[in-house]
Order: sequence, then C-alpha cells, then structure tokens
Amino acid sequence: MDMNKKSIYSLQLQELKDWLSENGEKPFRAEQIYDWLYKKRAVSFEEMSNLSKPLREKLADQFQITTLNTVIQQTSSDGTIKFLFELHDGFSIETVLMRHDYGNSVCVTTQVGCRIGCTFCASTLGGLKRHLEAGEIVAQVVKCQKALDELGERVDSVVIMGIGEPFDNYNNMLSFLKIINHDKGLNIGARHITVSTSGIIPKIYKFADENMQINFAISLHAPNTELRSKLMPINKAFKLDDLMKAVRYYIDKTGRRVSFEYGLFGGVNDSVEHAEELADLITGLKCHVNLIPVNYVPERDYVRTPRDKIFAFERTLKNRGINVTIRREHGHDIDAACGQLRAKERKEETR
Ligand code: SAH
Repeated sequence: MDMNKKSIYSLQLQELKDWLSENGEKPFRAEQIYDWLYKKRAVSFEEMSNLSKPLREKLADQFQITTLNTVIQQTSSDGTIKFLFELHDGFSIETVLMRHDYGNSVCVTTQVGCRIGCTFCASTLGGLKRHLEAGEIVAQVVKCQKALDELGERVDSVVIMGIGEPFDNYNNMLSFLKIINHDKGLNIGARHITVSTSGIIPKIYKFADENMQINFAISLHAPNTELRSKLMPINKAFKLDDLMKAVRYYIDKTGRRVSFEYGLFGGVNDSVEHAEELADLITGLKCHVNLIPVNYVPERDYVRTPRDKIFAFERTLKNRGINVTIRREHGHDIDAACGQLRAKERKEETR
C-alpha cells in the first residue's frame, strides 16, 4: 500500500463532492461512495460496483481505505474490547469498545502519543510522535462497527478520550466529528459524541463557536491553580482562571452543560477540603463532575483514594448542590485505561 495516499475516510462529504467535480465526475457519486464506505463497509474500491471502472481506478490511485491492522484484541470480563491497532507507518494506537447496557461506546485515539505531559497519564510517556489523520480516527470507529456487525449491533456513542489531546489536533478532530456525525456517514448523533480536553484555551473558544451539539468535557483534576500546575503542566501556559472563563463562554454560547473530569489521586487532591474548594470554583455553572479513581500507572507513583474517602468527596459535592458521578470502570483487567496497553507494548519493544 502506498503510504503517502490520503485516507478516503478523511474526506467530509462535501470535500469528496469537490474532488469528484474537479476530476470530471458527478458530485452525487460522493453519496454512493459514502454508502460503500459507511453502510456496506467496503474494504476496496473494486467492490464499488455502481461506479465506473475509470472512477474506481482514479480513487484507488489517489486514496487508500485505511484498514487498521489489529495487533492485539483483548476482551475483558465485563465485555469491554480493547484493540491495539498498527498504522501504515508502524506506529500503534489503542481503541476501546465498551459494551454498556444502554449501548456500545467507542473510545478513540487522536494522536500517536501526547505532548501535554500530565504527571499521572501513561499516554504522554513517550511524547508526541505524530497527529492522526481524520480518516485514521474514523477508521477506529469503522473497525469497532465491523466487530459489532457480527453481533447485529451498532456503535451508539463515541468518546474522544483515548490517547492524545484532541484540541492539539483540532482540524482533524473536527473533520472526524463531522464525518461520523453525518447521516450519510456513520450517523452518530452529536449528543452521543463526547470530546475531552486538558484545557487548550484558544481552541475551547473556537469549539464553542462551531456550535455543535457535542458533549464537552474538561480534565480539571484540581480545584486551584497551584495544585493544577503540579498535576498538569499545561496549567502553566493556560491558567485555571482563564480556563474557567473559556468554560463560561462555552456554556453561554452553546447553552450546553459541561463535564469536569476530576481524577482522585490519593493524598494529593482528594480531601473534603479539596471538594469544598472545587464546589466554590464551579458553583452556579451548568456542569457535572465525573470523579475518576486513579488508574494505576506503573511509571507514576500515584495511589488510589480509599473508598470511604471517594464517597466523602462525592457527598461533599452533592451537599453543595453539584451534579456528580463516580466513573464506572471498564476493562480494568485488560489495561483499558489511557494508553496503558500501548505503553506496555512499547516497553516490550525496547527490551
Ligand atoms: N487529552 C484529553 C483526552 C483524554 S481523556 C484530556 O486530557 O482531556 C482521558 C481522561 O483520563 C482525562 O481526563 C485524563 O486526565 C484522565 N487520566 C489520564 N490518566 C489517568 C490516570 N492514570 N488515572 C485517572 N485518570 C486519568
């Protein structure tokens, strides 16, 4: 396969129409191609039997249909399936398919590695290798859908919470959203898509102005700027005060509720006093707090918050009128969290 060919999955419907026009073809062919890609889940242009042979050849000449190579597929006792996929240039990424009673959810990766440097996270350990093309993110959802085809089920929702900082690969992430959301594409409703950011402020303003009905999450993890800077170096560039301003702008502009992700790191940010301070910070905002008991990362020395302290933290927020949930864990037995499988694999590579 020619590695330099663009992934056909990277093209929004309109972009595909434009390409067809420029190549002397009828734009309505774009819908046919989308149908082959997203409804019939074709793996080659040859299969696209209602297109002329010259058009199929032109497509094959310029594009590839990204087929991610499955290196590892692990199924957890709770039904979660974790994939390690290999990209055309040999890098590997993780995708997680979660099987909830309310539907199937896919967690996608947006970058090979990450350069944000959060002190608790496995994804950032080897730094950033490269951005993913939009089509390489789309292909992760297509692969999971194919796994579900065998069971007669569909991908109901998508969370952009895998490896990478989606707002550091903004344009590709946005194309991805538009492609999977399109009714001629995978037709995943905006309200069933969630994007999470560590807090790249200019992009939060930009995203607010896109006016999409997407669920939006912010990785907060600390109730004050000093502590947040210790946990997340990005807070030195994009400070908590300014982040909260951007979040307010987002809520005003879209009318939507935001989620704050708050990892509980034992003895670091998990006391009742921290919960009170968090309540002070976000009271009055249209929001929801998602508490994440820390996922153990061997390279990091954070420890779990004991259960009773987790509940005390939750209760404190509830008493202050804040919407809060404790994140249910999936695939704990298969390293399903945040770059852990890839980190393990990379370590084995360098042995
Ligand atoms: N880069 C984006 C998307 C990742 S979402 C972001 O930061 O929001 C994954 C979530 O899990 C983020 O909230 C991240 O901060 C959190 N996380 C990362 N490592 C973790 C760990 N070891 N324990 C608990 N949460 C973790």
